[in-house]
Amino acid sequence: MSDFKVGIIGAGVVGLTTALELKNQIRNAEVTIIADKFHRDTTSYVAAGLFRPGTSFRGPTEEVTYEWIRNAYNYWTDIKRTPEAHKAGVKELSGYIFSSTHISITKNNYLEKILPVYRTATEGELKLCPGTWKYGSFYSTILTECDLFLPWVTRKIKELDGKFISQKVDSFSDKIMDFDVIVNCTGMGAKYLCNDNLLVPLRGQVWKVEAPWIKHFFYVDYDTYIIPGFEGVTLGGCRQYDSYNLEVDKYDGLAIKERCESLLPELKNARVIGQRVGLRPHRSVVRVEKEIVMSKGKRQKIVHNYGHGGYGVMVSPGTAIHAVKLIKELWMGHSKL
Ligand SMILES: Cc1cc2nc3c(=O)[nH]c(=O)nc-3n(C[C@H](O)[C@H](O)[C@H](O)COP(=O)(O)OP(=O)(O)OC[C@H]3O[C@@H](n4cnc5c(N)ncnc54)[C@H](O)[C@@H]3O)c2cc1C
Repeated sequence: MSDFKVGIIGAGVVGLTTALELKNQIRNAEVTIIADKFHRDTTSYVAAGLFRPGTSFRGPTEEVTYEWIRNAYNYWTDIKRTPEAHKAGVKELSGYIFSSTHISITKNNYLEKILPVYRTATEGELKLCPGTWKYGSFYSTILTECDLFLPWVTRKIKELDGKFISQKVDSFSDKIMDFDVIVNCTGMGAKYLCNDNLLVPLRGQVWKVEAPWIKHFFYVDYDTYIIPGFEGVTLGGCRQYDSYNLEVDKYDGLAIKERCESLLPELKNARVIGQRVGLRPHRSVVRVEKEIVMSKGKRQKIVHNYGHGGYGVMVSPGTAIHAVKLIKELWMGHSKL
């Protein structure tokens, strides 16, 4: 019998990586995942899943941010090297980032330190796509496709006896939330659960098309990107601050298609799979913190893990490792593991 009960709210990539990390580190912990949306109804499902931290991604300090990113890269690399990589939706992906406006757009301090292949694009490579590209980088990174990864990680958690409950949580003191530690991985849901006004949606819309001949990713000015995954190619995108619109917008769709087709004209021949919309849970500083709140006369221990913005897929294992460290600290206060 387990004597340590943890309730994780959220079944997106952040909640599920946290649950698996917890089960891997503390086998006898009784882990229950509670969420009102799963798999294809989550924001995680919308993501292209490219490992590419942007400048708006920030942890509490530069050191912690770098540690999250490095740990996450090592986690994905470990999966990539196993025979299960394909089933988990994890693969290596190389590609280009071009800009006609500024060299800083093609630079990435974190990736330059972490990736084994990261270099300036050659003059010839700058001519790969129509356009007046002045600056460019080429690198080999990781792609994690949540359409495959979410079911894979769910299976792993179930194999380790993790439980799943489909329910909306209105407050940490809900009757169902009777756990030693609650872990809050609710993405945009934390805005209401924690009354967190620092959390803002960054709306995104993408196309999914069939174009198996595209083998590299291309990322250029104005958030235009073409990212080949396992089940199709993602064409993006947009980043609309403080927009809650979850409907496909016709005009956004037309603009994205036009930008991507002018970058790779052969995309005009691609069969359309569909369009997806999601709200990136942006917070100026991603919240991975412990908190103790008084609830019905009881000290309720909580670990928050939310606000990953446009980078939640790539960095989720890094913040999961941090969150599990905090869960252990809270539990150690009570009993030896
Ligand atoms: C267009 C687009 C492209 C993107 N591309 C990339 C990319 O290339 N690389 C990358 O790393 N990231 C990318 N992202 C960002 C990434 O999708 C998010 O950062 C990530 O999905 C956040 O994961 P999450 O688990 O926090 O949230 P979600 O996936 O939204 O999951 C939240 C979970 O919490 C549950 N929940 C919330 N509130 C409650 C409640 N009150 N009660 C019960 N359950 C609750 C929900 O049901 C859900 O299960 C992209 C996002 C978009 C929209």
